[in-house]
Amino acid sequence: MKQDKNCLFCKIANKEIKANIVFENDSLVAFTDINPQAPVHILIIPREHIPGLNEISEANNELLGKIQIAAKELAKKNNISRDGYRVVANCGPNAGQAVDHIHYHLLGGRVFKWPPG
Ligand code: AMP
Ligand code: ZN
Repeated sequence: MKQDKNCLFCKIANKEIKANIVFENDSLVAFTDINPQAPVHILIIPREHIPGLNEISEANNELLGKIQIAAKELAKKNNISRDGYRVVANCGPNAGQAVDHIHYHLLGGRVFKWPPG
């Protein structure tokens, strides 16, 4: 599996850097965001180092599907399924992507505006 030894989220996945991990399995790790933007703010990442959405391919279909299911299950576990939640993947500078290891924000526990800022 591809890893980047200088990548913050690879280090979190490898437990070289501590995070509040709320779910993990062979392919995914989920942890609470260090600067939460909502009462529930969890980041879901693959263990594999994929820099961002621009780098995915059909080879990642199964992995990306697993991320969606993990988001749904974490939403249920955090009691935000019924009221609703948002799943966001920022890609590139215009979207404000700050960490170049693909990650999906699961946000809930409040009302979100649309269109987003
Ligand atoms: P993005 O702007 O989409 O790249 O999101 C990166 C997210 O990672 C931000 O919401 C940060 O607050 C979060 N983040 C950065 N460092 C850490 C960390 N060490 N542990 C948990 N979340 C982090
Ligand atoms: Zn990485």
